[in-house]
Amino acid sequence: MSASSLTARTVWRAHKLVLPLRATRWNSSLVDIPAQKFDPPVTSHEQAQEEVRRKIFQDAVKATAPRQNWTREEISAIFYQPLLDLAYQAGTVHRRFHKAGEVQLCTLMNIKTGGCTEDCSYCAQSTRYSKDTGVKASRVESVEDVLAKAREAKENGSTRFCMGAAWREMKGRKNSLKNIIEMVKGVRGMGMEACVTLGMLDADQAKQLKEAGLSAYNHNLDTSREYYPSVISTRSYDERLQTLSNVRDAGINVCSGGILGLGESSTDRIGLLHTVSNLPQHPESFPVNALVPIKGTPLGATEPISFTSMLRVVATARIIMPSTIIRIAAGRKTMSEEKQALCFMAGANAVFTGEKMLTTDCNSYEEDKVLFGRWGLEPMKSFDKSPPEAPSS
Ligand code: SF4
Repeated sequence: MSASSLTARTVWRAHKLVLPLRATRWNSSLVDIPAQKFDPPVTSHEQAQEEVRRKIFQDAVKATAPRQNWTREEISAIFYQPLLDLAYQAGTVHRRFHKAGEVQLCTLMNIKTGGCTEDCSYCAQSTRYSKDTGVKASRVESVEDVLAKAREAKENGSTRFCMGAAWREMKGRKNSLKNIIEMVKGVRGMGMEACVTLGMLDADQAKQLKEAGLSAYNHNLDTSREYYPSVISTRSYDERLQTLSNVRDAGINVCSGGILGLGESSTDRIGLLHTVSNLPQHPESFPVNALVPIKGTPLGATEPISFTSMLRVVATARIIMPSTIIRIAAGRKTMSEEKQALCFMAGANAVFTGEKMLTTDCNSYEEDKVLFGRWGLEPMKSFDKSPPEAPSS
């Protein structure tokens, strides 16, 4: 038996043994448990199962087009492969579908801070936690101020400008929508991609935004359907999926990802990957956020997620959604350059750059220029997403 398949077995067994502990919400990644703790003898049945999982992985790596019919078992088989092999193979898939070393620079501006009625337990902008977080509700920024920030982002190499508002939904916000439409038109007029994240959206609002030229709408699923109620109680998973459907039906690109480190298990991470990769069309963009614990929120004292868990999600996402842009989002500020480079090798190809990511710090334009120069990365051009189709072979 090869060393790599021995590791694969060990990891798989660790996963199986630890699963019953899920209810206790094991804090770190379930696959980061020291191997020697879980190394019982292998039966021929288990060996046969492992060969099946390896075959699933090898077939997935040969992909020449995206597929939307992944099973949880298949994703699980990929997810639990030995990490370096998983990352390497994800990099191979990445190079087949995208230009290696090309990374999209995107800037996110909070156009309306705080005062949100939702109870997302990681978020500083919810009114429920404002007494403890100290985040006050602000008015919507003016169109002029937003466009000035977009111009600055463009001058610093960003090709996508994302505007976020802390709202549950757009219902009853006609005037705000009018202003946002002007912002979208202004950003598009600069030759940048425009993205907004405004909470739940109905079909008519999505249509209006599409007509204004909106390139993408962000609405994260955050985590698995099973774990979601532990994080948010004020809107359902199905409501989130409905917004994604409204966006897609309007012809706008979908940006939808997750947050890691909410206390979820690896099974939940697989659940999230399963949901997004089985949407009628893969999201054009999949943001991978690492929770940045904010004092005063219910998750304010949460232990940060391990880097290896983050990398495992990035690499698995790349393999099962080969033409999607995988975006390293919140939490990049705490990652060393080397960790970021490993993510880029394993298939990540977008980052947020600028002053802030909503209420948390972001890697600055200057830092990212140095990072790109040092590692030979190239900023992706606007609407220059690398070939969606892989060469047939
Ligand atoms: S994540 Fe969005 S919807 Fe949830 S509380 Fe924060 S601003 Fe509101």
